[in-house]
Amino acid sequence: MRQPRSAKANPFPYRGSLVCYLSLDAAGSLTQVGHDFSSAAEAYRRAAAGEIRLYAVWPGEYSSDLFEIDDLNAFADAFGVERPDPHVHDLAWTLSPMDDGTSRYANVNVVFRCGCTLSKQNIKKFANDMRRQMGWNVATSTVPGCHGSADGSEVYTIRVERRTLGHAAP
Ligand SMILES: [Zn+2]
Repeated sequence: MRQPRSAKANPFPYRGSLVCYLSLDAAGSLTQVGHDFSSAAEAYRRAAAGEIRLYAVWPGEYSSDLFEIDDLNAFADAFGVERPDPHVHDLAWTLSPMDDGTSRYANVNVVFRCGCTLSKQNIKKFANDMRRQMGWNVATSTVPGCHGSADGSEVYTIRVERRTLGHAAP
C-alpha cells in the first residue's frame, strides 16, 4: 500500500461531503466514521486516546488517495468537537454598522488581537470558544465575512444571537 498523504500538509476539506472517514483499530479492523457530530466526537476521543488511527478517502482531485488525519485538532475544530485548548482569544468587537439593532442575530465585527483567523473550517470551534469565553451564541451556518480595516487588521463579521451579547455590549 502507498503511504497515506498527510491531511495536515494539504488544505483538507474536513467537512466535505465526499470525504469518507475510516478508523483503524489496534486489531486492524476498519470502520467507517459518519459525518454527524457524535460520530466525529467519538472518533476524535478514541484517536486522541491512541485507540484508533483516523484516515480519510477523498475522491476527486487525488482520486482514491488515502489521507491520514494527522492533525486531530483541525479535525475536532471542523466538527465543533470540544478539545483541550488553553488559548483564550483576545478580541476587539463592535456592532457592525450594518446591524439593524433588532434582528434575533446581531452582526458583530470582531478583530483578533491574538492573531487567530476564522473560516468555515473553524467556525464551530470558535462558536464553542465564544460560548465559554463570552457567553455568546454564534451562528455557524454562514461563513464569516472578512474584510480589512483602515489600520490593516482583518475584521470578521459574525452573527451572534443578540440576547447573548448581554451586558458586555459596547
Ligand atoms: Zn485567538
